[in-house]
Amino acid sequence: MSPILGLIQTLIIMGLVFILAYKYVDIQTKNTHFECPHCRSSFKLPKSSFALALKKNPYERMVTCPVCGYKGWMQIIKDEK
Ligand SMILES: [Zn+2]
Repeated sequence: MSPILGLIQTLIIMGLVFILAYKYVDIQTKNTHFECPHCRSSFKLPKSSFALALKKNPYERMVTCPVCGYKGWMQIIKDEK
């Protein structure tokens, strides 16, 4: 395989991974919310913050509450439909 084809293949794979990651974050932010353990308010994260939030496991993120400013691990809660 020529080096250029290899490069294009790498770019395509990276693009696909990026699109999948974006879709995942998009679905997660649309269908989930967080509940602040400090003030009990529930809120949604913007996509960018969700993507960049530290994670300990698939269910928890290091999040700052937009209401009271509390920062800590919060569980990702599915929206009720
Ligand atoms: Zn709070």
